[in-house]
Amino acid sequence: MKQLQYFSPQQLEMVNQAVEMAEELVSNHYKLSTSQLRRLNYDVKTLSDLNEAEIVSGHFAQIVKYRLKKKDTLRETEAEDFYKICLQDHSILETLAQHPELAFLAFLLYILCHEMIHIVRFRRFLQQFNASEEEKLVEEHRVHAKTREILTPVSMVGLESVLAFYRDWCVQPSQPGGA
Ligand SMILES: [Zn+2]
Repeated sequence: MKQLQYFSPQQLEMVNQAVEMAEELVSNHYKLSTSQLRRLNYDVKTLSDLNEAEIVSGHFAQIVKYRLKKKDTLRETEAEDFYKICLQDHSILETLAQHPELAFLAFLLYILCHEMIHIVRFRRFLQQFNASEEEKLVEEHRVHAKTREILTPVSMVGLESVLAFYRDWCVQPSQPGGA
């Protein structure tokens, strides 16, 4: 297996920045209160924190759903869902190397907004986590459109190139970066 490339410490700092920005943009868009935001119950992890099953190739990120059991209880009804956004450093870095017009922070902001929109929609039951492949593809288009809507008014270095990079997504849904 080829050696996977990880984000540098400087890049990890930008990931944190992008997480904060994405959270603010998405929660403003959906008018989420602080407690609603907390109840999204998700976390963002990068490659160095992922286990083997959470690592994929050909996607920039994937969402893995876990059932959490509350402490000191074995009752399944006490469990709640937890979503883990698993960033795939290697895929992101490979694409950034091929597309020098894409800025790291802007690219990460797009990816994170996109994944957070998925989670909001799961939480609101607008989308089933275990949907058919066909439904997932339709949802993917919707989420890309929503990401574009949220990010278009944002002024940020490199964001225009990122939106241009994703512009053709609807025409070629098989392009990596779907998840
Ligand atoms: Zn997606």
